[in-house]
Amino acid sequence: MTSLDPRAPLVLDTRELGRRPGSSRLMSRTEPAPADLGIEVLRVPEGSPIELDLRLEAVMEGVLVSGSADAEVVGECVRCLEPIADHLTIDLQELYLYDEPDDQMLDQLDVRRLEGDLIDLEPALRDAVVLALPFQPLCEDDCPGLCPECGMRLGLDDHAHEAPIDPRWASLQGLAGSIETDSEPD
Ligand SMILES: [Zn+2]
Ligand SMILES: [Zn+2]
Repeated sequence: MTSLDPRAPLVLDTRELGRRPGSSRLMSRTEPAPADLGIEVLRVPEGSPIELDLRLEAVMEGVLVSGSADAEVVGECVRCLEPIADHLTIDLQELYLYDEPDDQMLDQLDVRRLEGDLIDLEPALRDAVVLALPFQPLCEDDCPGLCPECGMRLGLDDHAHEAPIDPRWASLQGLAGSIETDSEPD
C-alpha cells in the first residue's frame, strides 16, 4: 500500500534498481519546484526548474540517495529590501530504509523510508533547501541598508544628508512665511 504517486515530480521509483546491495543508478531530471520551498525572505519560485543529479544506490537496509539539486532562489535583502535573485546548489545525501513490517526502527520518526518501491524526495529536499539558505539574505555582503530619515537606500550617489537643506525648499519655506504674514489681520 502506498499513497505516493509514481508520476509525481519529486517521487523516485527504485524498481529498476532492484534490492541487491551494491547496485546503483544515476538519475538526472528537471522537475518543477513545489509551493513554499524555502523561507519567508528567500525561496525557490513555485514551478521553477529544479535540476536533480542523483545517484541511487541499494545498500543492505535501504536505498542511499546522494547528489545535488540546482535551483533558482528569489527574495529580498533584509536590510534594503532590494530584490535578490540567486542560484543555489544543494547537496543531498539521504538513506531511505526499506519498509519492513517487522522493522524495530518503525517507531523512529526521524528515519526516512521507502513507500513500497517509491521514494518521496520532497521532505528531504525541503529540509536541505532551508539549511542551505541564509536566514538573513543580503543583496551584497556590506549592504548599508536604508536611511532611517528618508527611507532611501544608503550609499546611493544621490543620497546625502550632510548637505544643508535644499535652497528650493528654503525659498518655499520663505513663501509659506510670507503667506502667513499676509493673512494676518491688520
Ligand atoms: Zn541590500
Ligand atoms: Zn536619507
